Amino acid sequence: MTSAITRNKYLDDNQNRFIEQLMEWLAIPSISTLSEHKDDVRNAADWVRNRLAEIGFPTSRIIATTGHPLVFAEWQVDDRQPALLIYGHYDVQPVDPIEQWNSPPFQPTIRAGNIYCRGASDDKGQIMLVLAALEAWIKVDGALPVNIKILLEGEEEAGGASIAAYVQENPEHLRADAVLICDTHMVRADQPSLVTGLRGVLYTEIAVTGAKTDLHSGSYGGVAPNPIHALCVLISRLKGEDGVIHIPELASAIPAAGAAEKLFWQEDPLHIEKALCTEMGVTELAGEKDYPPLERIGLRPTLEVHGIRGGFTAEGAKTVIPASAVAKISLRLPAGLEPNEVFGWLDKAVQRHMPAGHIVQVTNLHAGKGFYIPPGAPALLAAADALESIYGKTPVFMREGGSIPIASLFNEVLNVPVVLMGFGLPDDTIHAPNEKFSLEQFRKGMKTVADFLGRLTCGQEHAG
Ligand SMILES: [Zn+2]
Repeated sequence: MTSAITRNKYLDDNQNRFIEQLMEWLAIPSISTLSEHKDDVRNAADWVRNRLAEIGFPTSRIIATTGHPLVFAEWQVDDRQPALLIYGHYDVQPVDPIEQWNSPPFQPTIRAGNIYCRGASDDKGQIMLVLAALEAWIKVDGALPVNIKILLEGEEEAGGASIAAYVQENPEHLRADAVLICDTHMVRADQPSLVTGLRGVLYTEIAVTGAKTDLHSGSYGGVAPNPIHALCVLISRLKGEDGVIHIPELASAIPAAGAAEKLFWQEDPLHIEKALCTEMGVTELAGEKDYPPLERIGLRPTLEVHGIRGGFTAEGAKTVIPASAVAKISLRLPAGLEPNEVFGWLDKAVQRHMPAGHIVQVTNLHAGKGFYIPPGAPALLAAADALESIYGKTPVFMREGGSIPIASLFNEVLNVPVVLMGFGLPDDTIHAPNEKFSLEQFRKGMKTVADFLGRLTCGQEHAG
């Protein structure tokens, strides 16, 4: 028997124990945003550190931070081999609304091939399958195939400030040739996928002032500036009905897509348009019709209004012309653009498009860069081959619209490819009641990660 077959047999033979261990970990309510769960978060950190020591990691420790602790483990097996940094988070979301759970949120329950519990998919179940894969290598082959560093945080659901500071302050300590993150989902259970790009974000507040005080619409209507109207005019000038954003510097800075990516978006084998309409409960998609939906979500920039505040909205009538109005506006930006530079372009466009007679101020509330891994990166190809060998189907490369700040940070600070190989499914209802993780995904996930590790060793020819 080749050792790959023996490893998979080991994973099959021990899967019940892995699931029992996962259930033990899931039962610890490590909700990072609620201070009454501070000890639980710490206990969940200790649990996984002990597990790493049990598996055989010679170094494993808790790193104290100003917030919840980090867990770090390392095994330098051979200086000639590459190093892989594995990231995950052991904290979970709150459980509200608790009455909608079919079983208690911290009592792991198996029903119809799924394990239900807060944190099952996001992210303890996914970390657990990685630990199982590592254990299989250690028990079957006697050692890990490559050098491994593991960094787990307990604040992912609470902003992740501690790990961000740690990564920025300790790049040498975390130095690796690639990063693996198992904290996303595949497009479908029968279609493996890898996330190769994430958009960045720029979140702003636009404040408009007209008269020095609120005015009566009978006495001043017809001559008074109205900041709410002005804000609406401004917004429609910034983005037209056709979805086109009127910030000239931005339009010319959008990076070009690769040829394969373009073709995939145009052919859209996943039938995204129909799926999105069903998901959102709408009859038609908004946005730039000249671009396929996958490109609109993955590569095109967006400009969205999240809320407008101003004037009178309480019960009854009040004939006031407001003196001020505020809008929260964010832009999603393709990888390669620097959000703080885009802020300057936005500010210029706002000043230019603002109706006369108003004072406008734009504030940069928050900015995060996107990231993109070229599909040719060896670690990404290794992940694709591993998925194909276990799932029997070629994975698709997806760019996702959202942001995973830690992925961008690793990519930027360590300057290495970040492999986002998640085994969740779109219906796992993470962050909502009845979060679950498919046991079939758990089984396939641990084999895929074990296979992936073997493909990272140098000297091994890449098959694809
Ligand atoms: Zn997560």
